Amino acid sequence: MSDLLPGISRSVGLATRLRVISERGRDAEFKQLVADLLLELAEVQLKLDEVLAENAALKGQLQTQSNPKGERCPRCFEFGWRVTSSRPHGQTGGMVQTYSCGKCGLKEEVVLKGK
Ligand SMILES: [Zn+2]
Repeated sequence: MSDLLPGISRSVGLATRLRVISERGRDAEFKQLVADLLLELAEVQLKLDEVLAENAALKGQLQTQSNPKGERCPRCFEFGWRVTSSRPHGQTGGMVQTYSCGKCGLKEEVVLKGK
């Protein structure tokens, strides 16, 4: 999963180079093909971003469910310190998790590195 984003970025880079080459030529069909390819790749990149965001959110939910009471809050030391939202971080499958305390309202963001 985490290798997908750099792979797609490289594909977009290659297709962009193809487009530069195609613009020097006169072959309209070739130009159209390269333009279509770039469009498709952009679409895949977009969908992948959505999937990664969903994946991060689900991982956060799972963590909350496996520990419904949460952990002790670092400020007020009450139980209820838990992940309230997650979002993807960077291009390597990392994740940013927002912890918050239901008792005193303390919030903290934790960055989890991708593999
Ligand atoms: Zn607290």
